Amino acid sequence: MIDVHIHAVPPNLPGVGSLHPLLKEPPEALAAALRREMQTAGVSHALAMGSWNNPDDDPLGINRTLEIAEFVPGLRPIGIMDPVRTDAEHFRRVEAVLSRGAVVALKGYLGYLHYEPAHANYRRYYELAAQYRVPVMFHTGDTYSPAAKLKFAHPLGVDEVAVDHPDCKFVICHIGNPWTTDAAEVIYKNMNVWADLSGLLVGDDGTFASEEGREQVSETAAAVARAIRYSERPNRFLYGTDWPLAPMTAYREFVREAVPPEWHELVFEETARRLFKLV
Ligand SMILES: [Zn+2]
Repeated sequence: MIDVHIHAVPPNLPGVGSLHPLLKEPPEALAAALRREMQTAGVSHALAMGSWNNPDDDPLGINRTLEIAEFVPGLRPIGIMDPVRTDAEHFRRVEAVLSRGAVVALKGYLGYLHYEPAHANYRRYYELAAQYRVPVMFHTGDTYSPAAKLKFAHPLGVDEVAVDHPDCKFVICHIGNPWTTDAAEVIYKNMNVWADLSGLLVGDDGTFASEEGREQVSETAAAVARAIRYSERPNRFLYGTDWPLAPMTAYREFVREAVPPEWHELVFEETARRLFKLV
């Protein structure tokens, strides 16, 4: 089982805290907790978001994740695109990271950063992603920050770049929640767009087991099932949790309920293995 969306480091975004106290722990302690969680849930690979706004020697914000990965087999970093940076020197450093295969994807924080996907400052990243054959993931939908602007985080913005950059593969994180049907339309229409199922429910085991939690599970599962049906492309949905915002095992059970059983193999494993070229 492959979890395509977790956090091993604080995202360092404007108006957002550390997400979870665990992410402030030293690498060994965080690694031990993550390894346990992955083992219990049966997860072989976990793809982890880097941080934003980094020193020059870490242009995609992955160095701390790489430190943690030394203690966690199967942990792979995702580099963060910074639309604030426009200098050639920065992109030369980004390309160096991509060329040594250090990241499995790039990620943009739509909404948190006030840049739409079609903003000129993202363009060079799409060219590099196509050249080095890694997908570009976008945070879409609801945010954790009152400083974020939602119009930049709507999944329709991904349609624009999917059309203009046909060689690039895009992933709509969180299926654009709450705009899950809009996201499904973008997936239906574009052959180069996927979605991940992470972060649709957050909380601890108690939240998921509570009466209200169980109600939310079935409501959200219905929205996921509808998005998959609407898109007519079950092979474009990827399992992800947004751990540590949700426990891996409880979240796995939610996704098992949301996705029709005949698509489990695709959603939990095969599609991610192919898209991110995991072996
Ligand atoms: Zn996330």
